[in-house]
Amino acid sequence: QTFSYDFDTPTFKGTTKVHTGLFINGKFVAPAEGGSIEVVNPATGKTITSVAAGTKKDVDLAVKAAKEAYKKSWGLKCPGSERGRLLSKFADLVEQHIDELSALETLNVGKPFLVAKTLDVTSVVAVLRYFAGWADKIQGKVIETNADKLSYTRHEPYGVVGQIIPWNYPMLMAAWKLGPALATGNTVVLKPSEITPLTAQRLSDFIIEAGFPPGVVNIVNGYGNTVGQAISEHPDISKVAFTGSTAVGRKIQEASAKSNLKAVTLELGGKSPCIIFDDADIEQAVKWATLGIFSNAGQICAASSRILLQEGIYDAFVEKFTAVAKSLQHVTGDPFLAETQHGPQVSRTQFERVMSYLHSARTDGAKFHIGGEKHGIGEGFFIQPTVFTGDNHMKAVKEEIFGPVAALIKFKTEEEAIELANDSSYGLAAAVFSENSSRALRVSHQLESGTAYVNCYGITEPGMPFGGYKQSGNGRECGEYALNMYTEVKAVHVNIGMKI
Ligand code: NAD
Repeated sequence: QTFSYDFDTPTFKGTTKVHTGLFINGKFVAPAEGGSIEVVNPATGKTITSVAAGTKKDVDLAVKAAKEAYKKSWGLKCPGSERGRLLSKFADLVEQHIDELSALETLNVGKPFLVAKTLDVTSVVAVLRYFAGWADKIQGKVIETNADKLSYTRHEPYGVVGQIIPWNYPMLMAAWKLGPALATGNTVVLKPSEITPLTAQRLSDFIIEAGFPPGVVNIVNGYGNTVGQAISEHPDISKVAFTGSTAVGRKIQEASAKSNLKAVTLELGGKSPCIIFDDADIEQAVKWATLGIFSNAGQICAASSRILLQEGIYDAFVEKFTAVAKSLQHVTGDPFLAETQHGPQVSRTQFERVMSYLHSARTDGAKFHIGGEKHGIGEGFFIQPTVFTGDNHMKAVKEEIFGPVAALIKFKTEEEAIELANDSSYGLAAAVFSENSSRALRVSHQLESGTAYVNCYGITEPGMPFGGYKQSGNGRECGEYALNMYTEVKAVHVNIGMKI
């Protein structure tokens, strides 16, 4: 079954056709037990279509296909150069369909079309090409021990890996996972978020067209507590990579412990601090902090959700930042308009979750400078870009909101800033703004986070690792570091003269 959609919008005119079945062993199939999931357009609140919802039985079939493909035509059977060639071709196909894929992402996630195109899909192409380049450079080491022995290591794939991804960057998260897994020779069972399955479904066509052998990539849509749980408990999956909330990350770790102790990497939530010192370039700091918290309607795991301001710059920053948040209200709305910069939250559940945090902030005595309400009167899940001042004890300052809500907090000294920044159970990203480079670097080295930005925010690069300290996760995605997350190291000892 397929779903066709005609886009007739100011930024994109064209048609897309998406298979709605599960993608198992190179074919689109109906789920073993029936079942479907409604897919909603968050900008209108209306149902777009429905896609198949798998269950444990479908995961079993997908794992079986992935296991066979690994033995027969992938893993150690397929040279790295060939894996790289296929990944490059996959990247080319994504690039050739960049407008269609961006429109589909916009339709399902609500992000502005031009952002989906220039940021999301462009980055997908870059990441796939980056990992294509690694595929024939996966190598161990010869380790000198003694003259009668040859000792070396091999970096071997795990076999079948499970990948569970969220809804905020559906296609980019798929690329961050598929790129390193396939480059290193693993086969994959991937579960998209049940909220945003459309682009992963469309990518399946390009996986076929690129020429990946059937079963190398399987995409099983479904809910977390069925398909997600079946993946994390599966005895034939040797590794699971997850991006999503800390609460679910904990469940995945538990499922691994209770099943086959599969390797687990987790990319989880955050409450990332952005420290702005008196000597910062204030105009630049306002722009980067805006990008950090208001892009993607604040649905960014590394969002700059806690903005720590030194007392000398506090008033001026609050005024300028509030003005920018206010100006965003004029470019909030239909994500297919070229001028739109601020789209809806992804779902009614997320909309309500953000609204409940706004209520909690009010109850805790936060001072709102702008926003704090639903935007507009339509059925879309829009929330006004919001700025409030508060302190580290408030629930809305401690917990991840995952919406367009910035908490501003005052500090006096460098020591206090570091203490406030690190006073969190999370540790995904952090930033320092200062024109004093010694101070900026000194502080950035003391921040407990997987990423430290200096005089910038929110940048990711295919070649730079991304991941969290503390309860923001384990392991790293992107860069050479990601390859280690998808390979086991074998130590080979060869006797070339030893006698006993
Ligand atoms: P979520 O944890 O609810 O869902 C993520 C994925 O896990 C979905 O595919 C979901 O179906 C699945 N899932 C749910 N329950 C499961 C279970 N019991 N077993 C297995 N899988 C299950 O998160 P979300 O609402 O989709 O995304 C928002 C969260 O993701 C935020 O907390 C955000 O910080 C985090 N996130 C982190 C990163 C990162 O790189 N660190 C990136 C994006 C999002």
